[in-house]
Amino acid sequence: MSTPNTNTPSNPPITVAIIGNGVIGSALALGLHKRNIRVKVYEQAQTLRSIGAGIAFTKNARECLALIDPRLDACVTAVGTVNGDPRDPNNNMQFVDGYTHDPVEHCLPNEEMVGRFVFKLFAGERGFEGCHRAQFLEGVMEVMPEEVVCLGRRLERYCLPGEGENQSDKIKLVFGDGGVDEADIVIGCDGIKSRVRQLLYGRDNPISHPHYTHKVAYRGLVPMNLAISHLGSYRALNQHMYGGPNAHVLHFPVADQKLMNVVAFVNDLDDWPLDKGMTQPASKDEIAAAFVDWGPTVKGVIELLLRSKEMDKWGVFDMYEYPAPRYAEGRVCIAGDAAHASAPHHGAGAGIGVEDALALCVVLERAQREIDSGYRGKVDALGFALKTFSDVRYERSQWLVRSSREVCETYEWVNPECGKDMAKGFEDVKARSHQIWYFDIEGMVKDLQRAFDMVPAEDLVL
Ligand SMILES: Cc1cc2nc3c(=O)[nH]c(=O)nc-3n(C[C@H](O)[C@H](O)[C@H](O)COP(=O)(O)OP(=O)(O)OC[C@H]3O[C@@H](n4cnc5c(N)ncnc54)[C@H](O)[C@@H]3O)c2cc1C
Repeated sequence: MSTPNTNTPSNPPITVAIIGNGVIGSALALGLHKRNIRVKVYEQAQTLRSIGAGIAFTKNARECLALIDPRLDACVTAVGTVNGDPRDPNNNMQFVDGYTHDPVEHCLPNEEMVGRFVFKLFAGERGFEGCHRAQFLEGVMEVMPEEVVCLGRRLERYCLPGEGENQSDKIKLVFGDGGVDEADIVIGCDGIKSRVRQLLYGRDNPISHPHYTHKVAYRGLVPMNLAISHLGSYRALNQHMYGGPNAHVLHFPVADQKLMNVVAFVNDLDDWPLDKGMTQPASKDEIAAAFVDWGPTVKGVIELLLRSKEMDKWGVFDMYEYPAPRYAEGRVCIAGDAAHASAPHHGAGAGIGVEDALALCVVLERAQREIDSGYRGKVDALGFALKTFSDVRYERSQWLVRSSREVCETYEWVNPECGKDMAKGFEDVKARSHQIWYFDIEGMVKDLQRAFDMVPAEDLVL
């Protein structure tokens, strides 16, 4: 250990600006507040209404939420919808061939699958329960101190110390409404169309934008009594994933089992320009045509989707082709989807973002301690904290972006290693899922802390 850096005459508390109050920004803010770090979240929306129906938190995500602040994990428990019988919840993810069937045999959706082999993947105790995003965020806001989140504040640009009009040692934030504020560091949790990412890498740089994966997701919510009448209660109340050629279908119960969330993924050869928005109205004919050759059960699920009131079509975008080279530059960084948006085929994008939030809590708490003790100056400590975050988180989060594309190929029988062999495909899905769920969280925390211990303050080159 080196001698402490005592150059700082006084050590005022650090101030953190988080851009975006989505799942990651809000979890991070609560975690930093709990660690006595001054934090403000700037959210462009005027209200806290959140779009997007279902989200499920995997085992790793729930453990990280609990470590950030146990109240976050309690929010998931409070709004998570049990899979299957509430007295005996089904903690498995279930995969089945939804395509192969005898075309001359006319059977009903709830009869076709009787006796068919179902691959079951244990997802942990109450693992992978669907919840409504808005309900989760409402729960988080109930425990968030009032002064933390500023609504109606869309970040336009920031100005680094010494740049242009900014002669202070803080980063100046400029918002769409003309308002300004300042902070010691800026963390972009502003999602897949991140403004902070654009400011870091340049608006015309392909790295700064997500790109179309040529997949669309048709999504809708079906009243559970209707789903049960068509599919039978076991099928309707339990999560199922149906694989087949060039498409796959997923459903799981949400909203306290009052609704069945259905998502059908289909190939799309056309382009989807980003300025078209992420959702479009869906035509019933195009969905029905995509599943015309599939078995009666999947066709039954699609028929229910077509009858759902708020069906929409999402373009699936990710950051696979143009990954960010790193997640931090000086005292600005990106986390969650802003850093590594992935296609949703593992259902783990938010989970990996929650791991980022825990990592940021660990490094910033450590930086604050070193600044308080005079061991490092503020600029060095914060820059080093964000660089450490980026170094430690990069590999795993980029793997998720790649694996989310690859696992979709397995579901859709185009992975050359597995083809339509569901048993081989299941082994592939299982290995990838375990890599996500059984993450060594303690190991990550130790890696982050070790980085601080190994670099003496006077050796820092940022
Ligand atoms: C169909 C689908 C299903 C999915 N299912 C799952 C799942 O089951 N499990 C899972 O773990 N993940 C899932 N994901 C992924 C998950 O939704 C994302 O990884 C997660 O929402 C990312 O959170 P975030 O906070 O980084 O971004 P977001 O949730 O997008 O939040 C970003 C916030 O930043 C705000 N913002 C944007 N720009 C600005 C600005 N300039 N100034 C101020 N505020 C700004 C936005 O208004 C928003 O509130 C799914 C994704 C999709 C598309």
